[in-house]
Amino acid sequence: MICVTIGRGRHQHMIAEHKALVEQGAKLVELRLDYISRNVDLSRLLKDRPGPVVVTCRRREDGGRWRGTEEARQMLLRVAIASGAEYVDLEEDIAEKLPRFGSTKRIVSYHNFQETPEDLDALHARLAMANADIVKIATMANSVDDNLRVLKLIKESTIPTIGLCMGEIGTPTRILNAKFGSPFTYAAFQADREFAPGQISYAEMKKVYHYEKINAETEFYGVIADPVGHSLSPIVHNTAFQHDGLNKVYLPFRVVREDLESFLESCPEFGVKGLSVTIPHKESVLPKIDHQDPSVEEVQSVNTILFTKSGLYGYNTDFQAALVCLAKGVGAEEIEGAFEGKTALVLGAGGVSKTIANGLHHNGAKVVVTARTDERAERLAGTLGCRVVKWEKRQEIIPDILVNGTPVGMHPNLDETPFDIEHLPPTAVVFDTVYNPERTLLLKQAREANLTAISGAEMFIRQAAMQYRLFTGKKAPKDIMYRVFKSSISAAKYEESGT
Ligand code: NAP
Repeated sequence: MICVTIGRGRHQHMIAEHKALVEQGAKLVELRLDYISRNVDLSRLLKDRPGPVVVTCRRREDGGRWRGTEEARQMLLRVAIASGAEYVDLEEDIAEKLPRFGSTKRIVSYHNFQETPEDLDALHARLAMANADIVKIATMANSVDDNLRVLKLIKESTIPTIGLCMGEIGTPTRILNAKFGSPFTYAAFQADREFAPGQISYAEMKKVYHYEKINAETEFYGVIADPVGHSLSPIVHNTAFQHDGLNKVYLPFRVVREDLESFLESCPEFGVKGLSVTIPHKESVLPKIDHQDPSVEEVQSVNTILFTKSGLYGYNTDFQAALVCLAKGVGAEEIEGAFEGKTALVLGAGGVSKTIANGLHHNGAKVVVTARTDERAERLAGTLGCRVVKWEKRQEIIPDILVNGTPVGMHPNLDETPFDIEHLPPTAVVFDTVYNPERTLLLKQAREANLTAISGAEMFIRQAAMQYRLFTGKKAPKDIMYRVFKSSISAAKYEESGT
């Protein structure tokens, strides 16, 4: 079950949001009395309530907004119990002072916005002893290990327990609670009004993560990155899982470099079966991979991991997807030898450029690398044994294949392009790895000049579809994935522009 938190300054807005949420299917809401700016009229909120509530009145030291006296706060909570509220949230130190009455269930809670304390078991035991029906522990995750300790606590506890880690690192715990039998998780009514760092909105819980369908058998997948906030992979993969009716959920895991090893080791225990890997982990995961796909051997970078009984398998679907796109672009049936004799200019010397330059080089292209940082370009060219030109002189090369592996032209810099295509031959293929927007200025100009233009969106969907096949053994619903990818990009732009 999802408990949706409502905190508004005025009673009428609390009541209206409660009604709206029930109409949207919410089965439980938390009324945050500490957000009400005037005297709280509890009977007004509870009298004709459209559904069950958790009554909470959080002090400032516990992350709330209550400005009144402690006496007045406890009185409100007593009245909530006497009025038959379905649940009341009581912090450990007041739980013993407010006696049980009627059918109101007691959530005994602990909040810590700085850290996840070391001795969680002792803390949990204390909270449980305070006449709790449910124990709620919400702590700041400073490392992946904090998430793991909190999830273990839920898994092993005999009393219903909600364990939430705050912050971006902690976000997956808000969803994983369902797998380990928590009575409910908490979500915000709206994405822009979170009540704790890292909280997920009700709409996202329902529409992206399908929280209500998660059970002990659900298999988890996810993307590891730092940062991870803007990744489109969760919406794309979850939509595909739902379309195919699979009991699988895909999560965003923010994993910092120092936590990579312990995170990978803990994945099997927490039901994580596969991962997408992105910046900054694509190369650092290599030593942990037991079985490398040829794509990984070739580029020495991993973007997909499968956890199996015989160890970790590593793949690079970016590499495969980019080469399929390019082979299609030059009209070849297969990748092998597709670029024989063609000159390919690769702009940029980062991860994507390295992957694509490698593939082109090993399939017959004469690769020329250029990047604004000379040393990076020289290093890449050195490892491939190919030519390098200075960034200022890139226009002197007239390639058959042009690859943009820089973020130039990416949203919001829509009027920028990394190359003047005027002198490219009419048979040239232009591949822009940027996928937001799908039609960059470089691609628009290429299409206007009747050149073959390949978008980063095509590469993104292809690599995601290949990952999906690895995760599920099934052919990916590519059209559905593309549709949701496209609408997510538009929605992100809409949000950023503030309209
Ligand atoms: P990266 O490792 O950070 O490399 C970026 C490269 O672009 C570096 O060589 C960097 O130069 C250069 N660069 C950055 N800003 C520049 C500018 N204003 N002018 C000229 N050069 C600039 O990043 P990456 O992982 O390779 O990703 C690069 C781009 O690929 C991303 O922006 C993304 O749009 C795209 N991408 C697409 C897909 C897909 O599936 N379509 C997947 C991943 C990435 P310095 O070293 O000097 O910073």
